[in-house]
Amino acid sequence: MTDTIFGKIIRREIPADIVYEDDLALAFRDVNPQAPTHILIIPKKPIVRLSESSQADTALMGHLLMTVKKVAEQENLSNGYRVVINNGTHGGQTVDHLHLHLLGDRFMGWPPG
Ligand code: 5GP
Repeated sequence: MTDTIFGKIIRREIPADIVYEDDLALAFRDVNPQAPTHILIIPKKPIVRLSESSQADTALMGHLLMTVKKVAEQENLSNGYRVVINNGTHGGQTVDHLHLHLLGDRFMGWPPG
């Protein structure tokens, strides 16, 4: 795969407001927040998108969801939050490195646009 802006953030080549990190995942604030709290959770492994993940990534996918839960607790999102994965063109994905959006601190409408 080609490198992305998120690869540069993982390698600390460009700055980001990092709120959580472990061996497998990184979480940082979105540069263009769509809610008062908007954090991106990404695998350090450069998976392009959900639809390009494989069976071998099963445990990592679970880890990313548990990381969302951990970060949401860290951010005190006790009134709830939304988790979004944009996949591919129709999903509205703009960065080709799998990421989970954690959005909170406001009411989320449904259906999403
Ligand atoms: P997508 O549209 O692919 O689901 O989401 C990509 C997200 O990455 C967008 O919400 C966008 O604001 C965010 N983003 C793009 N470039 C950067 C960057 O350089 N730093 C940070 N922190 N977020 C970025």
